[in-house]
Amino acid sequence: MAAIALGIPAVRRGGGVPSIEGRPDVPGLVDRFGRVAHDLRISITSACSLRCTYCMPAEGLPVIPRDELLSADEIGRLVGIAVRDLGVREVRFTGGEPLTRGDLVEIIRRSAEAAPGTPLALTTNGIGLDKRAEALRDAGLTRVNVSLDTLDREHFARLTRRDRLPAVLAGIAGAHRAGLGPLKVNAVLMQQTLHDAPELLAWAIEHGCRLRFIEQMPLDADEAWRRENMVDADELLGVLGARFALTPVGREDPAAPAEEWLVDGGPATVGIIASVTRPFCGACDRTRLTAEGSVRSCLFGDDETDLRGLLRGGAGDDEIADVWRAAMWAKKAGHGIDDVDFVRPLRTMGGIGG
Ligand code: SAM
Ligand code: SF4
Repeated sequence: MAAIALGIPAVRRGGGVPSIEGRPDVPGLVDRFGRVAHDLRISITSACSLRCTYCMPAEGLPVIPRDELLSADEIGRLVGIAVRDLGVREVRFTGGEPLTRGDLVEIIRRSAEAAPGTPLALTTNGIGLDKRAEALRDAGLTRVNVSLDTLDREHFARLTRRDRLPAVLAGIAGAHRAGLGPLKVNAVLMQQTLHDAPELLAWAIEHGCRLRFIEQMPLDADEAWRRENMVDADELLGVLGARFALTPVGREDPAAPAEEWLVDGGPATVGIIASVTRPFCGACDRTRLTAEGSVRSCLFGDDETDLRGLLRGGAGDDEIADVWRAAMWAKKAGHGIDDVDFVRPLRTMGGIGG
């Protein structure tokens, strides 16, 4: 397998800080296409307790040395700059698997102190969440998304290369007990689990979870994704429609990635994030930080702008904010998966943070 398929960190092409030619003098994270980023995703690790085939290679991603990862202090400082100076309204921690970081509670605490009142969310596979949900809530965590693709233990083990379904279900129950509900559950659409979707939806409704299905994107380390083989939103709607009456209700807000359907007349809903067949890049409001502290303006854009060097070199908040603004100004228009000249990004999903 090529080194790049392992998610080896990309280096900003050309190096340095992107040009801000033409950028209006506004405080927020605007780009050349008029979008404004309010939603910050921070990857905090590339390590994971699962090996989902649509994400990780069987052997996992290369370990990022501890001193190359942003520390809890550094993450807190960047969250403060993002919220205070750059207009960020919500912060989500992801990875890899964020629960593999022993200092996750400290990361949440520092972030909550730096940005009081800002929603702090976690995207997790749920393994170990039952033991840490209360401490995370007490530190300031407000929302949790758990990834779960199927309730069939054998299918789960094959898809994730680990027989850990009971641990995920325990994590979801623990998050509910800690009052971190209503939980969102994310399921990636794959041929192997497509026919498990109706059971997953019935289970989610019964357990007070909001289920969203996600079209698989070409971000798997194995490079097995093929446009012609992927399960799309229409195919899922056909499968769910055989058991439930679905009524389209659109998006919660224009920047929300999921389109919603009422299930059997409501109030329960199901969401579909059709990133490939109905891309929403035109309304994208995300800015990302990699685990090593670089701004990544788009999942599919390899250009990264280092902030860790500035943090560790003694730069002030204003300088860091300016570099972050410049990085977002250079954001590309869209992922272009359907373009003939589409090129996969160098990093895979687990190395960027979904
Ligand atoms: N480990 C955590 C988890 O699984 O929730 C956080 C990181 S994971 C990369 C974040 C989200 O990306 C998960 O919901 C996962 O299902 C999704 N994901 C991973 N690979 C994907 C792909 N190739 N296409 C679409 N979504 C993907
Ligand atoms: Fe790990 Fe999440 Fe990727 Fe699955 S999707 S391998 S749980 S990082």
